[in-house]
Amino acid sequence: MYDVAIIGGGPAGLTAGIYSARAKLKSLLIERGMTGGLAATTEFIENYPGFSEGIGGPELMTRMEAQARRFGLEIVNSNVEAIRKENLHFIINTEDTEIVARTVIVATGAQPQRLQVRGEETFYGRGVSYCATCDGAFFKDKHVAVVGGGDAAVEEAMFLTKFASRVFIIHRRGELRATRILQERARQNPRLQFIWYSVVDEIMGRETVSGVRIKDVRTGQTSELPVEGVFIYIGYSPNSSLVKELVKLDEQGYILTDANMHTSCPGLFAAGDVRQKSLRQVVTAVADGAIAAVSAEKYLNQNR
Ligand code: NAP
Repeated sequence: MYDVAIIGGGPAGLTAGIYSARAKLKSLLIERGMTGGLAATTEFIENYPGFSEGIGGPELMTRMEAQARRFGLEIVNSNVEAIRKENLHFIINTEDTEIVARTVIVATGAQPQRLQVRGEETFYGRGVSYCATCDGAFFKDKHVAVVGGGDAAVEEAMFLTKFASRVFIIHRRGELRATRILQERARQNPRLQFIWYSVVDEIMGRETVSGVRIKDVRTGQTSELPVEGVFIYIGYSPNSSLVKELVKLDEQGYILTDANMHTSCPGLFAAGDVRQKSLRQVVTAVADGAIAAVSAEKYLNQNR
């Protein structure tokens, strides 16, 4: 029986683990893939306080994991398939075993949204990618397209210019959503080219991607753009389906919490990108994780 079971090993989950293990609560973190979450797939993080020169995403997350383990957090690698509440306990079914815990912190994050156009699934891993850090190096001296106009699209497009000879940012409006500092840097990058008021209709190719069909949203006219890679950064959707019967969600599926990370289910807390919030960053995820762990501790003290 664990005091705290944390689901998800990104910044929110690992920080919840640091706080709960340090508070001497018997704590377990369950992660289905690699620890570190989306932050570990970000090449470089410039805005995490304390690292004045910036820090690599993988390095920051490796350090967080080491810190959590130092305080005694147990980490298992498994996929959680179901969670149910029985009286004051939560029963967590993973693909390997059944875990019983008195509280649960859901820190399952969010996953990249799909464009849902022809060719996207067919060419996934063969030119279509949602992770420039993972796949960018395959496109040395090639032309690639990035879809989206937010921070992620602009930041990752700039990263891709390290490899690709030309990077097209295809955005559906005439103005970026990304913060001004990123916009300014992007405009100064000679390898970047913007294609405004356009959406991708189809991703084309034979064995691998050879181009995209784009549509001008003002005129409806379509044209073909030859590229060998398509990186899609059009936002994220929450990984909340595990708890959709247990807690209240908003219309987009994000978990609703109060300021202390309580969900509508007593004993179950949420932290990080999976919850409804206004700013999704490593710094807000770690804050959520710390608050969730302290709230879990208070809940345990009140329900002994
Ligand atoms: P985002 O801010 O939601 O931006 C998504 C972009 O994709 C928008 O430009 C949107 O267009 C476009 N889009 C959405 N659906 C589309 C569709 N079906 N077809 C074409 N375009 C579509 O998402 P994000 O850039 O992934 O960022 C997510 C969060 O992480 C944000 O809070 C962001 O600030 C944060 N983040 C921060 C950093 C950083 O601080 N360095 C880096 C990465 C991410 P519209 O603009 O027209 O809506």
